[in-house]
Amino acid sequence: MDFKNLIAHCKEYGFIFQSSEIYDGLSAVYDYGPYGVELKNNIKNYWWKSMVQMHENIVGIDAAIFMHPKTWKASGHVDAFNDPLVDNKDSKKRYRADQLIEGYAEKIEAKNIKDIEKAKARFGDAFDEAQFRATNDRIIERQKQIDESMVRLAKAMTAGDMDDLKAMIDEYEIVCPESGSRNWTEVRQFNLMFNTQLGNIAGEEGKLYLRPETAQGIFVNFLNVQKSTRQKIPFGIAQIGKAFRNEIVARQFIFRMREFEQMEMQFFIRPGTQDEWYQYWKEARLKWHKAIGTSGDKLRFHDHAALAHYAKAAVDIEFEFPFGFKELEGIHSRGDFDLTQHQELSGKKLQYFDPELNENYVPFVVETSIGCDRMFLAMVANALVEENVPDADGQDSVRTVMKLHPALAPVKVAVLPLLKNKEELTTAATAIYDKLKLSFNCQYDEKDAIGRRYRRQDAIGTPYCVTIDFETLENGTVTIRDRDTLIQERIKIEDIRSFVQDKVALENLLA
Ligand code: ATP
Repeated sequence: MDFKNLIAHCKEYGFIFQSSEIYDGLSAVYDYGPYGVELKNNIKNYWWKSMVQMHENIVGIDAAIFMHPKTWKASGHVDAFNDPLVDNKDSKKRYRADQLIEGYAEKIEAKNIKDIEKAKARFGDAFDEAQFRATNDRIIERQKQIDESMVRLAKAMTAGDMDDLKAMIDEYEIVCPESGSRNWTEVRQFNLMFNTQLGNIAGEEGKLYLRPETAQGIFVNFLNVQKSTRQKIPFGIAQIGKAFRNEIVARQFIFRMREFEQMEMQFFIRPGTQDEWYQYWKEARLKWHKAIGTSGDKLRFHDHAALAHYAKAAVDIEFEFPFGFKELEGIHSRGDFDLTQHQELSGKKLQYFDPELNENYVPFVVETSIGCDRMFLAMVANALVEENVPDADGQDSVRTVMKLHPALAPVKVAVLPLLKNKEELTTAATAIYDKLKLSFNCQYDEKDAIGRRYRRQDAIGTPYCVTIDFETLENGTVTIRDRDTLIQERIKIEDIRSFVQDKVALENLLA
C-alpha cells in the first residue's frame, strides 16, 4: 500500500491522529488512538519481555524525563547534539544540510536503478546486475560520484565542518525542492534539545532539558542498579520511555517526530570484550525483528561512516519503509565514554569491582536503541495489504487487511452474532464475549452485515472472528474465521479460548 493510503488508514481506523488536529495540528507530534495504543503496548511488551524477562542478566528501570542539567553537559549533548541547518532564502524552508546531500546521492542512484531496469528488460533472464554495475561506464561514473560525495559528507560531519557542507550544496548544485532555487543561507549548527526552566532557579543553573534519549537515565543509575540487584558484569539495564528532539525537518509521519518513544538497553561489559558483544547484539536484535515475520530482504545492516560523539562503532538495522531503507534501530559500541564523563562531572566514582579480576574499572557499554514509533510504522507498513478475495457471493472483491503477527494484533478476537435483532443470538454472543474478555482484548460487534464486520476486523488486523449463528443455539458450536486464510472452522464454545490462545501467545515469539 502506498504511504499516503497507509497514513489515511491509520487515521480512519483509530491507530494514529495528528496531535491537536482541531487546531490544525502540531507539526511532527502524533497521538495514538484506540487500536494504535494497543499495538504500541504490544510492541513494547514484546521488546520488554524479550530483553528483560528472557535475560537473567538484564533488568529494567523507569527513570524520570527531567535530569540534572549537568547530565547533558557530561553526555556531550549540550555541545555536540547538533544537526547542520540550512535555509532556502526564497521558499523560507529549512533543511538539514546532510539530508540534502544524501538526497543528491539518492538521485544519482535512482538514475542507476533506472538504467539497470532498462537493461534487465532488454537482456531478460541472462541479465547479471553485478556484472552490469561493474562494467557499464555510465554506472561506474555515477557510482564514483556517489561514493565521493558520501565520503566527503562523513568527513565534514565528523569534523563539524559547516563550510564544507555549504560548499557541497553549491558544488552539487542542489536546489530547494520547494522553490527550485539555489539561494541558500550559510550552514549552521542547531542543537536538537528542547529546554525549559525550573521555576525557582533563574538563569543557566535552572535550565532543564527534555531528555533527547533515555540512555542517560541508565548511565547515572548504573551503580544504584548494580548494587541493588547484585548483578555481575556483563549485565544490562533496559528502559522504555519518551524522548524529545527538536528535529529540523520532521516529515514522513511517525518516522521522525519531535516527541517519541525509545526502547533502549545498555549492556555493561568488561573492557576488551566490546567486539564480541557488539557482534552478539547485532545478531540478537536482527533475530528479534525476524521473529515477528519480517522477511530478511526488508531488513539490512548499515555501518555508520560518520560516528556520533560517543561511539566507537555503530551500525543501524534498516528497514525498507515505503520511502526506502531507513534506520529503525541502532547498535552502538560506546566504550566507557558516558560513565567516564559522568564520573568527571559529578565527582562520583562509577566503577565496578570485578571479583574475578580482582580490580576496579569503568565498564564499557554496547547499547541497542530502537524507536518504538518507528517500529510501529515498520510493522504497519509490513502488514497492511490490499488483496483480492471472494466475497459472500463468491465474487472477487478487494479487502484491506493488516496481517500483523497475532501476538501483536490490537484485538485478538471479535465476537459477532450473525444477526443483530435475534435476541437468542446476541445473548449467546454476549455470554461468549464476557468470558473471552478475561483472557484477551476482544471486541463485540453486531452492527451491519457479517461481511462488513469481517472487513472491519481485517482492517485493524484481528486474527480471529467468532460468529454465533443458529447452529450455535442447537449444538454449542461457533465458526471461527482465520484472518489470513479466510478458512472458517466450527469449534465448540469451550474450545475458543485455547484455540485463540495457541495462536496469539507471546510465547510463540519469545521461544
Ligand atoms: P536519525 O539518523 O534517523 O536522526 P539517530 O541516528 O539520531 O536517527 P539514535 O540517536 O540512534 O537515532 O536513536 C535511536 C533510535 O531512536 C533510532 O534508531 C530511531 O528508531 C529512534 N528515533 C530517533 N529519532 C527519532 C525521531 N525523531 N522520531 C522517532 N524516532 C526516532
